[in-house]
Amino acid sequence: MNQYLNQSVEVLKGIGEETAETLSEMKIHTIQDLLEYFPYRYEDYRLRDLSEVKHEEKVTVEGEVHSEPSLVYYGRKKSKLTIRLLVGRYLIKAVFFNQPYLKKKMIINETVTVTGKWDAHRQTITGQELQLGSNTKQHDFEPVYSLKGKITKKGMRKFISLAFQQFGGYIEETLPETLLHKYRLLGRRECIKAMHFPGNQEDVKQARRRLVYEEFLQFQLKMQGLRKFEREHSPGIKQDYDLEKLQEFINNLPFPLTNAQKRVVNEVLTDMLSPYRMNRLLQGDVGAGKTVAAAIALYASCTAGFQGALMVPTEILAEQHADSLKQLFESFAIRCELLTSSVKGKRRKEILAELAAGNINILIGTHALIQDEVSFKRLGLVITDEQHRFGVEQRRVLREKGENPDVLFMTATPIPRTLAITVFGEMDVSVIDEMPAGRKKIETYWSKPEMLERVLGFVEKELIKGHQAYIICPLIEESDKLDVQNAIDVHTALSHYFQNRYHVGLMHGRLSSEEKDSVMKAFSLNEVQVLVSTTVVEVGVNVPNATIMVIYDAERFGLSQLHQLRGRVGRGSDQSYCILLANPKSETGQERMRIMTETNDGFVLSEKDLELRGPGDFFGKKQSGIPEFKVADMVHDYRALETARNDAALLIQSHYFWKAPEYSNLRNQLEISGILEGEKLD
Ligand code: ADP
Ligand code: MG
Repeated sequence: MNQYLNQSVEVLKGIGEETAETLSEMKIHTIQDLLEYFPYRYEDYRLRDLSEVKHEEKVTVEGEVHSEPSLVYYGRKKSKLTIRLLVGRYLIKAVFFNQPYLKKKMIINETVTVTGKWDAHRQTITGQELQLGSNTKQHDFEPVYSLKGKITKKGMRKFISLAFQQFGGYIEETLPETLLHKYRLLGRRECIKAMHFPGNQEDVKQARRRLVYEEFLQFQLKMQGLRKFEREHSPGIKQDYDLEKLQEFINNLPFPLTNAQKRVVNEVLTDMLSPYRMNRLLQGDVGAGKTVAAAIALYASCTAGFQGALMVPTEILAEQHADSLKQLFESFAIRCELLTSSVKGKRRKEILAELAAGNINILIGTHALIQDEVSFKRLGLVITDEQHRFGVEQRRVLREKGENPDVLFMTATPIPRTLAITVFGEMDVSVIDEMPAGRKKIETYWSKPEMLERVLGFVEKELIKGHQAYIICPLIEESDKLDVQNAIDVHTALSHYFQNRYHVGLMHGRLSSEEKDSVMKAFSLNEVQVLVSTTVVEVGVNVPNATIMVIYDAERFGLSQLHQLRGRVGRGSDQSYCILLANPKSETGQERMRIMTETNDGFVLSEKDLELRGPGDFFGKKQSGIPEFKVADMVHDYRALETARNDAALLIQSHYFWKAPEYSNLRNQLEISGILEGEKLD
């Protein structure tokens, strides 16, 4: 940063101690901060033809006062002034609230310029600003800044204008010529000028384009630099697996791997072979085939002489995984065992002893795996499934079980790519973005709650075929606050409805884990045909014979959650169905239901969810760790984010970046560059 721009804002005329204080509350301390305090939107004062203006849009019109204004008072101090305006060939109304003094200024046949919100149905503009005479604004676009305290719109614009006049010449270019040229980006100084003093919309667009790219590039350089540093400073183990055996294992699978699975397996194996510790997130939609990828990695670790661990959040899931892994490894002399809190007494002792002796190759279990009594002989690879269910602390304890084992986190919650890049920037991310061939789309319908009778008839058709059904409710029991369906009442009603024909089970989070397990077991053994449940069934449960799901009050769930729920069906070879019972009032609620009926792609849904809810809401506010950008918007500028990420990856790898003068400004902005540069030079 240069010395001129680094001066306090107080060097500007008109900024005294008090103003400087308010500015510092706005995080504006230096001239540079001020110059980079960009408007959050622009007021558009272009005159437009009213036929092109949308309902509720803000617009500026110029017209002649057509009749005597009428002023009505109501209540104390409240008033409404209405005038008729002739705007081109339209006769419209303009109303001003609580500004009775404007009446005197409105003279018939004189020209006025009104800015306000356009009501297309009533052909009325609700005036916010009035100018007498023609539009005299100097610019079509006026920047709008967020302000604080006594700082006014006018004041802010004056400060920025002064700052630019006096110090604009010192703004330095930060991007190298090659990048500016490659993407045809404007210079930094020009962009800052255009953001504050735009001539038109295009100026802002071009300026933003560059600033967004730069902001993302810096961010990515920082994240990737950090990751590189961390990787090179976290000693790991080199797992020298047996490629031939691995190939044999893969050839023996009952199906060929999808291309996405192959790619991901390669990424994981490369990490395992490297002397650095793997710290990788594996994302893949429900049913995309993550378990197989995990099995291959676990086997690789075994052939390298290490043990592997697979940790999952529930006992049911642990049992399911143990069963399927045992089957896969049956003819490969690999010993898999299950360890959960239900494994007790002698059996438990035996497993612990065999594990410590290295006779068990792969241990599968719940968080029971991270208790002190569990010790491995030579742990090489730790995999956690549905990683978001485990806390950071639990993941750390598990990692520390061995000496720097490789770690793979798997999740079926599709995290929008944009968020994954930012939030998990310090982790490597692999994505299985392709479904095994022949999967049937889950037919999804949106139905009004009044249609329940017909929906149940549809459910019964599936039951008659010998299939099973999930019925999902948002609540466990009746609530006086919310008028939504609860599992206990629905269970009672459906038990009655299906009596003597089908068994109806009940599952919710307040049951003990033994109760939950026994209900789930009964369902997976088809002793129960209809399972009424809250969202506890969301994670990983696999009952391929269940082909239909009904979700009550579906508008109460987010898209990603609906998708997770829906993933419980469609796990067998039969056509499956999901019925959303919902009566959403809001536009976005209706949009969500429509999208669910249109796509089965978890990534599309998660991107949509992000768009509808915003990044802050996606993970829940507190722990999101989502960085704040000055100009860039992760959702809308995701293309720029991807470009920047790829460019950052290339730069970080290149020696040229760490030395060439044309990159010095970019390098200097990396707080970590000091460490990394030192690293490069030895
Ligand atoms: P995930 O854990 O990603 O939800 P799974 O690994 O449980 O998915 O796989 C879901 C189902 O698809 C399993 O029955 C599995 O055997 C099957 N499967 C996995 N990969 C393939 C493939 N490449 N071709 C066909 N079926 C596959
Ligand atoms: Mg799975």
